Amino acid sequence: MSYASADSASFDNQDGFSAPQVLAQLRQSFASDRTRTLPWRRAQLSALESLLKHHTDELITALYQDLGKSKTEAWTSEIGFLLTDIKHTLRHLKKWMRPHKVPTPLIAQPGSSAVFYEPLGCVLVIGAWNYPLQLTLAPCIAAIAAGNCVLLKPSELAPATSSLIKKLIPRYLDNTAIAVIEGGKAETTDLLAQSWDHIFYTGGEAVGKIVMQAASQHLTPVTLELGGKSPCLVERSADVEVAARRIVWGKWMNAGQTCVAPDYIIVEECVKDALLKALKKEIRAQYTRQPLQSPDYGKIINRHHFDRLCGYLENQQLYFGGETDPQEHKIGPTIVLDPDADSPIMQEEIFGPLLPVLTTTQISESLDFIRQRAKPLALYLFTNDSKLEQRVIRKVSAGSVCVNDIMMFMTNANLPFGGVGTSGMGQYHGHAGFAQLSHKKSVMIRKFWLDVAVRYAPFSSFKLAI
Ligand code: NAD
Repeated sequence: MSYASADSASFDNQDGFSAPQVLAQLRQSFASDRTRTLPWRRAQLSALESLLKHHTDELITALYQDLGKSKTEAWTSEIGFLLTDIKHTLRHLKKWMRPHKVPTPLIAQPGSSAVFYEPLGCVLVIGAWNYPLQLTLAPCIAAIAAGNCVLLKPSELAPATSSLIKKLIPRYLDNTAIAVIEGGKAETTDLLAQSWDHIFYTGGEAVGKIVMQAASQHLTPVTLELGGKSPCLVERSADVEVAARRIVWGKWMNAGQTCVAPDYIIVEECVKDALLKALKKEIRAQYTRQPLQSPDYGKIINRHHFDRLCGYLENQQLYFGGETDPQEHKIGPTIVLDPDADSPIMQEEIFGPLLPVLTTTQISESLDFIRQRAKPLALYLFTNDSKLEQRVIRKVSAGSVCVNDIMMFMTNANLPFGGVGTSGMGQYHGHAGFAQLSHKKSVMIRKFWLDVAVRYAPFSSFKLAI
């Protein structure tokens, strides 16, 4: 199906890119009202599904080139994740789009009230490099579901995936309503100067502030999917073997470059040795004794981040790992023991394969340590103590909490995903994404009959007494 009309240029080609022109084209498409319809939204989502299915191998290759991702990881955390999200959205979209009736008070009777979900208009999506496909296309799914036009700006730090997105999206989707512009700081700055109806940004805090500042010039609402340090607490009653297996899986997936990876562990002293031994055993089981050679172990995105991560290891006590390959940008799974709270590895988000392990006598005593710091994107707790579980859930603010596992809440499209405080604002996945990129328009419909005079001036004392 082709949507490009004779008088509307498509975005197949980026030569002579002009941000105002790109937005003008999207606005023209939005004004046609076709993106508001259920058939258009469904057709785009199905087309995206076909794109992912037809080009799975190419996408896996691109993700390998950018991040050394294994086939399994590329499938589970990127392509398969997106296909599940599309399937869930297609299944529920008609219901989500229905006006949501709400009660009407006596004073407004006879009348009816409902919330209509209305598309916002033109949405700018700025993707991140660590899951370069998922983090560009999952916001796109939400934008389409909500009936918007969308411009995708994939991360320039994952160039193979970015250029494949640029090549494939116009082939499958309505290319006058869904566009891709590649580029880095310069192109993003131009795009941010335009008056969008929503900006959906995934990445670090520093650029998040730039995005929010640019958006404020047009009073454009933003979704900021940011990061930060996500703690992982291991209490004495936990099954240490299972905890270690799950922590190793979640921490060293994508070589630790995951926004919701556990950033550091706080373990109770009485199970510390058991946990450390179990972690070592699990790292070897999952990535062999030579993890840098393991086909399942990824690489660091570039030299800048490789050097940043190596810098964190200076003057630290290593329990495990520490091997590096500067040529391949690889750093093995590394465990750091009891770093100072004011050392860079405990001050900055690690976003790599280094795992500090801190010790406490009692987990309940370490909750203030977390509460005194920036609100995390994710909080993990391993315990069999249901009282502690409830205490942590209720006492510590975090984007998401997962008890006795790592990252698994991401697999549930019924759970909104997003940060709180400096870990972000706004949420998506499933209905949350649809709602985030819709305006909830309040509508009240009244009747002409029963027009009670008491509400109108002049307000005589008689009326007031009533
Ligand atoms: P980044 O913030 O540097 O880049 C992200 C995007 O911003 C890219 O598309 C880039 O082109 C653009 N950009 C970079 N500099 C810019 C500038 N000066 N002006 C305008 N645009 C600019 O990415 P990063 O900091 O390396 O990403 C890692 C961070 O992202 C981590 O903090 C991680 O936790 C976070 N993250 C969060 C999520 C989430 O879903 N919450 C997912 C992935 C990553």
